[in-house]
Amino acid sequence: MAARLIDGKALAAGILERVRLQRIALGNKPLRLVSIYVGDDISSAVYIRNQKRACERMEIRFDLEHLPATATENDLVDRLHVLNHDDSVTGIILQRPLPPELRQFRLQAKIHPDKDVEGLNPANIGSIVYGMPKLVPCTALAALRCLKSTGVPLRGADIVMVGHSEVVGKPVAFLMLNEFATCTVCHVATQDLATKTRHADVIFTAVGKPGLLNGSMVKPGAIVIDIGIKQVPQVGPDGRPLLGDDGQPLLRLSGDADFDSVSAVAGWITPVPGGVGPVTVAMLIHNCVVAARLQQGLPIESALA
Ligand code: NAP
Repeated sequence: MAARLIDGKALAAGILERVRLQRIALGNKPLRLVSIYVGDDISSAVYIRNQKRACERMEIRFDLEHLPATATENDLVDRLHVLNHDDSVTGIILQRPLPPELRQFRLQAKIHPDKDVEGLNPANIGSIVYGMPKLVPCTALAALRCLKSTGVPLRGADIVMVGHSEVVGKPVAFLMLNEFATCTVCHVATQDLATKTRHADVIFTAVGKPGLLNGSMVKPGAIVIDIGIKQVPQVGPDGRPLLGDDGQPLLRLSGDADFDSVSAVAGWITPVPGGVGPVTVAMLIHNCVVAARLQQGLPIESALA
């Protein structure tokens, strides 16, 4: 393996240590996150568990409000209004995915920008475009923190961002522009992805398709930040799926990059798991402290400095 690993767990520990110090400067006011989970999509369960654990470790109160899938948009708007005006609430998380009849954009816009710890209110996304980020989407922030940990200069670097979601791809692209990098954003309609990625000094990928990026698509020495997460079957040495005691296939997490072929060519790579994921959770805690500081009219510190 040629590539050096970007250790997300170590980065997350460093971020939490810094946040701990910033928190002391806030005084004794307790911090509290309220997470709203609508319906029963089990893909939210892992995120909720990780968020809760991280909050407990940092002595941040974490309240999960589970609403039935029948909850209406107006029910949520009313609840968000109450939480926006509750001084004991530092931050509000709206777990995704929402049931399809609920409009993400409308609801995200109803969270007060200073309590929007996921950085998805249009006002917070707009602040990134203006080059004055305050609360930034946690995954985008985490991906950039992973990249910056390499120490490689970004000014003038050629970047490819695969995926253009509001949560990851678009904010990463604007954050990279703020660093004076040149960013190409690729998506489902991009023709000949490999031609684009082969020229990149840095490749971010956030799609959720294991094997989308392989070694032949990567420039030697490039940095690969793999944000994608997907559960795939584990296979044995004979290529057959491994089964658990209950006869069900054993699963493992995979990123978008074919790790073996990409790490043979790249200069740096984030593993999955253990790369961007733990840093994302640390960034949620960072954003919680940023939210508290904004609410107290205090200056905020960048997570990327
Ligand atoms: P998303 O909203 O589904 O976005 C996926 C993006 O990939 C879309 O922009 C889609 O384009 C694009 N895409 C689909 N097929 C493609 C292809 N063949 N080539 C190029 N682009 C393609 O998902 P997301 O919320 O951004 O999350 C993306 C991945 O990151 C998922 O695996 C998710 O689990 C993971 N994730 C990880 C973390 C973490 O902490 N590590 C946090 C959040 C998300 P179209 O919209 O045009 O189809």
